[in-house]
Amino acid sequence: MIAFTDGAALICVVPSRTHNGVYLVRCEPVETDLIVSHDCPAIRFGRACRHIQEAASAYELWHWWERATCFPITA
Ligand SMILES: [Zn+2]
Repeated sequence: MIAFTDGAALICVVPSRTHNGVYLVRCEPVETDLIVSHDCPAIRFGRACRHIQEAASAYELWHWWERATCFPITA
């Protein structure tokens, strides 16, 4: 999965499994919640959607990496 950030949010590029193209899924922390927004045909048809879970996992990984880069090294 490709993902990039605009500073406040992580934007995940999730390839579609059934159509050509990608979905953009935006994950933005608001207080203690993670707001995930995207335009998805599954949601419009009332079906469960994997993009939100995939994007939330990527967001967790992103923050894990952020913490990792700030980890102090002690000799
Ligand atoms: Zn979706």
